Amino acid sequence: MSFVPLYKLRRSIPSSGEKLLILDRKGRVYLEVEKNGKLAIPRADKFPELLAVELPELGVFRNQICYGCRWEIEESPCENLIAIDVREAMTQVDNAVKNLLLRGKPILEWLSLRRYCSVCGSELIDHEQEEARTCPNCGMLFFPKISPAIIVMIKREDGKILLAYNRHFKHKCYSLIAGFVEAGESAEDAVRREVKEEVGLEIKNIRYLYSQSWPFPDSLMLGFTADYAGGEIKVDGEEIAEADFYSVDALPALPGHGSIARRIIEEYIAEKRNI
Ligand SMILES: [Zn+2]
Repeated sequence: MSFVPLYKLRRSIPSSGEKLLILDRKGRVYLEVEKNGKLAIPRADKFPELLAVELPELGVFRNQICYGCRWEIEESPCENLIAIDVREAMTQVDNAVKNLLLRGKPILEWLSLRRYCSVCGSELIDHEQEEARTCPNCGMLFFPKISPAIIVMIKREDGKILLAYNRHFKHKCYSLIAGFVEAGESAEDAVRREVKEEVGLEIKNIRYLYSQSWPFPDSLMLGFTADYAGGEIKVDGEEIAEADFYSVDALPALPGHGSIARRIIEEYIAEKRNI
């Protein structure tokens, strides 16, 4: 029971029993609340208007092709269909739905925004072999945009980790230091720079852990750990409002499940408790 992405641009008309991932412009996904309370991807026949339209195939979801569409629904077609913020949905769905959202959100947004050539203004068409859109006039190719970003857990010798409250967070929680990789930087340079800019600390022993797609809007989060090397915490006051080192036994509110930040922190907690 899984989701296998289709890394190719292919469009066809969905049949009524197939699944349909619908996102709106507010970043919400339409999910069906099943009798047992689970959130599921709706069938295409819930949206009869879309059964005559060629839609992008996102991949194979539980042995069926799943299509995607960015569409503004004015009135929900049935009462057990709810619109929920994608980031919020990620914390409540199973892995197959989560993987479909991770793939579908950036692709559907890219397809709806990348419609014209930024060189000559012509309307773009799907590329036949690549996952790209191409200009029939000047030949320019446009691929989905992926923005690398770093996230880092800074550990101190006493085992405490640095957590910070970013005023852009929707809910009050404390997370790891994160930021986009700038042009010309390595990921490690970005780790060092973001930590210095946001909390004023020096770090050492930067080590890569793993990555996660984070399509809010189009990031690839590269997870790192580092050791504290010196300096006093001085928050930038713009993004970061508060930061401190916390013991794993006295942690503040953490970011939601499904995020790489939560995974890195939870793995560290488990490691400390097993020692
Ligand atoms: Zn062009």
